[in-house]
Amino acid sequence: MIPKTAELLQILPSQISETTANSPPKDDKSWQQQQADALREPARLLQQLALPDSLLAAAEAAGARFSLRVPAAWLARIEKGNPTDPLLRQILPAAEELRSSTAFSTDPVGDRAARAAPGLLHKYQGRVLLMTTGACAIHCRYCFRRHYPYSDDSLLTQLPAALDYIRTDNSIHEVILSGGDPLSLSNSRLAQLIQQIQTIAHVKRLRIHTRTPVALPERIDAGLLEVLNTVKLQSVMVIHCNHPEELDEQVLEALSALRQCGLTLLNQSVLLKGVNDNVDILSHLSQRLFSAGVLAYYLHQLDRVEGAQHFEVPDTEAIALHDALRQQLPGYLLPELVREQRGVGAKTPLQEVCRP
Ligand SMILES: *Cc1c(COP(=O)(O)O)cnc(C)c1O
Ligand code: SF4
Repeated sequence: MIPKTAELLQILPSQISETTANSPPKDDKSWQQQQADALREPARLLQQLALPDSLLAAAEAAGARFSLRVPAAWLARIEKGNPTDPLLRQILPAAEELRSSTAFSTDPVGDRAARAAPGLLHKYQGRVLLMTTGACAIHCRYCFRRHYPYSDDSLLTQLPAALDYIRTDNSIHEVILSGGDPLSLSNSRLAQLIQQIQTIAHVKRLRIHTRTPVALPERIDAGLLEVLNTVKLQSVMVIHCNHPEELDEQVLEALSALRQCGLTLLNQSVLLKGVNDNVDILSHLSQRLFSAGVLAYYLHQLDRVEGAQHFEVPDTEAIALHDALRQQLPGYLLPELVREQRGVGAKTPLQEVCRP
């Protein structure tokens, strides 16, 4: 096996030097260490969660296609001995992933065609999406980017071309940092990147799409808060949380710290069978998010990525769930139910997709 530090080094060279330059107190592991120590072996996962060995063969086979990765903070929120735990389902490689379906592809939303420059997607008017890294703190089984050829883009090394593209198109007012997960970058790398974006006069807003505050709350460290505090652009952070159990005290604290930096916090969820396809869960999620200063933004109908078909909720059921949710919640807590469609210049409300 490749040593973990070497693996990190491959993806994020800048992170390693910071780790060594700034070694953390012994009982308070740095987020880099937490990330490096994320659980990657299906056998250990099953053992730590007291789950049956009968799940192992499938977990190893599915994990060979898209690897298991789960940080300790996430693991701690999973109920032991419960194979249907909603947080477990999101990360455990499962037998269902090995089935293939012709409706599900390796590039479900046409990202490859929308590539404007290496690592840059320009699909929507006024907004570009910059893929900063292929790395994530956690690997979600339904991820629509699980087959994305990140290495083709080798991201940050090709940043100058992406920034040139943004510079020469003055219709671009918003830059969205995505990935992977942009918070996998070190604080200094992020600061540098944001600094470069800020030099482009027509860019007014910065948006960060990240699952890290939920998956690895330790990442919201003093250095990151300092970086975010000094951003001059109007800044929005869109977190990704699917189930109220993902929001424990540590996550709520991280979110509250982010709010204090003046960021607008929004959440996007993916509607997932066996995880959150339930009106009470979704209602509870919106309310719990709001209590942490986060507004529900989107509820995504699953992108049809190969290996994720078992998470799909049929459109008619999704619309019925959303209608029921509307009855329970004030309008400002109701996320918009959307589907991303190939070649369409905005996320489409599912009700519109399904209109006869
Ligand atoms: C979802 C997405 C956006 C942002 O869409 P909003 O509706 O503004 O949240 C931008 N670019 C791409 C490629 C996207 O997939
Ligand atoms: S954090 Fe986001 S990009 Fe990363 S695996 Fe999960 S869904 Fe995919």
